[in-house]
Amino acid sequence: MPIRDLFRRDHRADGSTAPAGTVEPSAGVVPAPADDDEAARELAPPPPRSRFSPRAWIGARNVPANLWVRCVNERCKELIYTREFEKNLRVCQKCQHHARLSATERIGMLLDEGSFDDEDRGLRPGDPLGFVSAGQRYQDKLVETQDKTGLPEAVVCGIGAIESVPLRVAVADFSFMGASMGSVVGEKIARAIERSLDDRLPFLAVCSSGGARMHEGIFSLMQMAKTSAALARLGEARVPFFCLLTDPTTGGVTASFAGLGDVMLAEPGALVGFAGPRVIEQITKQKLPPGTQRAEFQLEHGMIDKVVHRRDLRPTLARLLALYTGQPTAARHGG
Ligand SMILES: [Zn+2]
Repeated sequence: MPIRDLFRRDHRADGSTAPAGTVEPSAGVVPAPADDDEAARELAPPPPRSRFSPRAWIGARNVPANLWVRCVNERCKELIYTREFEKNLRVCQKCQHHARLSATERIGMLLDEGSFDDEDRGLRPGDPLGFVSAGQRYQDKLVETQDKTGLPEAVVCGIGAIESVPLRVAVADFSFMGASMGSVVGEKIARAIERSLDDRLPFLAVCSSGGARMHEGIFSLMQMAKTSAALARLGEARVPFFCLLTDPTTGGVTASFAGLGDVMLAEPGALVGFAGPRVIEQITKQKLPPGTQRAEFQLEHGMIDKVVHRRDLRPTLARLLALYTGQPTAARHGG
């Protein structure tokens, strides 16, 4: 019996619906009265009529509560065995929805094992405007987010290797204030680019962002010019720059460094755009076509060079690195 059917089944306390060969999940959740005690049977609480609870079933058997995950795609919502989900690089096997990754997960998935070396970890954001948003000081919000994510800022920069070819990466983490570009995010990216100018290591930006960080006002907008100017120098020096756009990449990040890659890659279904669709519809007073601002749409319209499934990212990047640097990679690729 497929495990999904087990989760969907209605269970009555008298056990009459339990087909042969299946585990009775309500056993051990609601204590059944002893057969020889009629009085206890009378006084026992009425059996639950609600649907079977996977949580109760899981708890009853001391199985970790995160054994299953549900696909976040609204049109799918498939229940997936966590181990299979992880093995599939956090892509839903049914609808191929690519779940968002933390910077740490992305680095672990993309780079050769143990090859990553953090740069500029000591750079921490300040609060130049003394900004308060929704009754919370920006400074407090930063501390709260740093505690939650374990990261000092929304981008992690450093050097690593893909199939033994060294490169420099900047990986954004959307769980840190929507990976918005504050002055330290911009500074870390600009420094990474300048380091690549010095040592000529190819630079890969794994982008995701809600845009500029409003808490830092003009200081965050200035990062668009700073990162773009640094990339112009990298281009003049003919050091390759690859961009991987992940869900979602929007706002001032799309309008600056995330739109300037020599090769623009994106994950399937990733939201890629500048302003949100609702804002565009309000301003232009036109209904946008379906799929606007998705990676596939941007591929059709020339902003992106290739939409790459997560399982193919490492081989694709390895091939690009080999082509652009002339260095052989550790693995052989057909074609
Ligand atoms: Zn799915």
